[in-house]
Amino acid sequence: AKARGSGTWCFFSEGMTQAARERLALEARLRRALDLGHLCLYYQPQLELATGRLIGAEALLRWLDPDEGLISPARFIPVAESSSLIGPLGLWVLQEACRQGQQWRSAGLPALTIAVNVSLHQLLLTDLAGATQQVLAQTGYPAQQLELEITESALAEHPEEGLQVLNRLRELGVHLAIDDFGTGYSSLAHLKRFPLDLLKIDQSFIRDIPHSADDMAISSSVIALGHAMGLKVLAEGVENREQLEFLRQKGCDFFQGYFCSRPLPAQDFTRLLEKVGKG
Ligand code: C2E
Ligand code: CA
Ligand code: CA
Ligand code: CA
Repeated sequence: AKARGSGTWCFFSEGMTQAARERLALEARLRRALDLGHLCLYYQPQLELATGRLIGAEALLRWLDPDEGLISPARFIPVAESSSLIGPLGLWVLQEACRQGQQWRSAGLPALTIAVNVSLHQLLLTDLAGATQQVLAQTGYPAQQLELEITESALAEHPEEGLQVLNRLRELGVHLAIDDFGTGYSSLAHLKRFPLDLLKIDQSFIRDIPHSADDMAISSSVIALGHAMGLKVLAEGVENREQLEFLRQKGCDFFQGYFCSRPLPAQDFTRLLEKVGKG
């Protein structure tokens, strides 16, 4: 490497400061967006593979910025995660999903499970079980129709703490799913101890089916593993008929993905439920 003068170091550290400054600015804007009601939830249908029946919806957070337009959760969730904002943000998502779910129920629409994403810090640093219990009581939404999705990597990093929270959630009657399965390197010994209902195969293993023999082998192993552990298995990111056909052959229980539907604004999802209700 060439000798680098202090100018280079200076440039590098200014770069860090710049990144940190941008992060802080985004955090402040996100805090304001939460106050101003610029956040909303989209809902992606989850279907039973064997019957095509609509069984649930995954709630996915959207930030509609008046200037910038739609901002992806992949960009702002990590910012919220690294600040105290994940507490109020996660709580808002939970409240909004249960409020919406209860509204669908009282409109007499077909029953479904709403899946809500929970992040690592929400699991470990906030009173997730207490907050969930409170939200269910406030909204009247039944615990049995709420599913919390926790990433495999969160549980792999903190199995003991995670287990305690999951056990409390399970006592409430809430369903528990492990998200992005296959990417988190969790030990099967730990996995066995978690009170889970559902494994979600990460979309990276679905994407290249039917072209990748490796991904087909991984997906069918995960389905077999999930079933051997008494769990249901859902494949996410299903985009075409070949993928669906493969998953059906392997006995996968549920799927979601663009092949069926993109995540929908609540209003569009309501129309879908109304159509399903009419049969
Ligand atoms: P995730 O939980 O793995 O969600 C699945 C992502 O895949 C969503 O992206 C969804 O829109 C997208 N997707 C669904 N079907 C397909 C498909 O067929 N093909 C492809 N290529 N993609 C598909 P989205 O909505 O941008 O969310 C990204 C991530 O942000 C989520 O990944 C989740 O980790 C996080 N996230 C979203 N909402 C929340 C939330 O309320 N709380 C927390 N903690 N995280 C959230
Ligand atoms: Ca998810
Ligand atoms: Ca996922
Ligand atoms: Ca993911």
